[in-house]
Amino acid sequence: MTLLTFRFAPSPNGELHLGHAYSALLNQKLASASGGRLLLRIEDIDTTRCTPQFEAAMLADLKWLGLGWEEPVRRQSVHFAEYKAVLDRLIDEELVYPAFMSRGEIRAFIADREKRGRGWPRDPDGVPLYPPIDKALPVKERKRRIADNELFAWRLDVDAAVARIGRGLAWTEFSDETLSATRSVEARPQDWGDVVVARRDIPTSYHLAVIVDDALQGVSHVVRGQDLFSATGVQRLLQELLGLPQPAYFHHHLILGPDRRKLSKSLGDTGLAALRDAGASPDGIRRMVGL
Ligand code: GLU
Repeated sequence: MTLLTFRFAPSPNGELHLGHAYSALLNQKLASASGGRLLLRIEDIDTTRCTPQFEAAMLADLKWLGLGWEEPVRRQSVHFAEYKAVLDRLIDEELVYPAFMSRGEIRAFIADREKRGRGWPRDPDGVPLYPPIDKALPVKERKRRIADNELFAWRLDVDAAVARIGRGLAWTEFSDETLSATRSVEARPQDWGDVVVARRDIPTSYHLAVIVDDALQGVSHVVRGQDLFSATGVQRLLQELLGLPQPAYFHHHLILGPDRRKLSKSLGDTGLAALRDAGASPDGIRRMVGL
């Protein structure tokens, strides 16, 4: 039987909090209960927000918690060439297009629609979908604007991508923490519109890097927070376009702050380092997150 492979994949753009501790420890528990592997992946493609200091603090917090993982750790920022090769396939297949609109231009486009009494769709996070203007630009104009050094991002032409697959997509979701039963969830990538798959200077995005790495590292079980549940639809589509294997998923509940809001990396008091400094033990943290 092949070994089950789990991963914890934090981004070093802030301090780890109780929500990360729960995710990391749950992955560890599931890996050890099944005799499987636990990988740690540093998702640091955002080279402006991710820093070596945050990464060092993150590794120290995870060691203190008692997390063990296989070496070497995969650090996404040193694998840009691999993501670029995958991006080039999507460019060759005309499934992505250069998107030039600035935030201000997008806002103006939507304000104009709304002024005329027409709504504009938003993604599950509440962000307006990208307007369809750049998708229709003639190739010559795209080339000219790229040559003129205009800023752009590569966006997935989600309608073209869905049409290319030609059938509905679903993913396998475990029903609870024991991973004893699964259900099939319909993937709805269109809900997100034309997502960014790469930037001009960084040849990848969260969605692209995550599916490339999960495949490359042989991840069989993606266990992560509920906040990424519907993003899985986009990732399933990319997996299918690129012929990558599909892991099974479990999206766990989020640990909320005292105000019932999602924890953020800037909330000091639920940070692991602050809790440790205030005298909490690793066992205390486990109890706090219910493990
Ligand atoms: N790097 C992502 C985060 O820190 C998690 C990605 C994932 O687990 O798929 O939110």
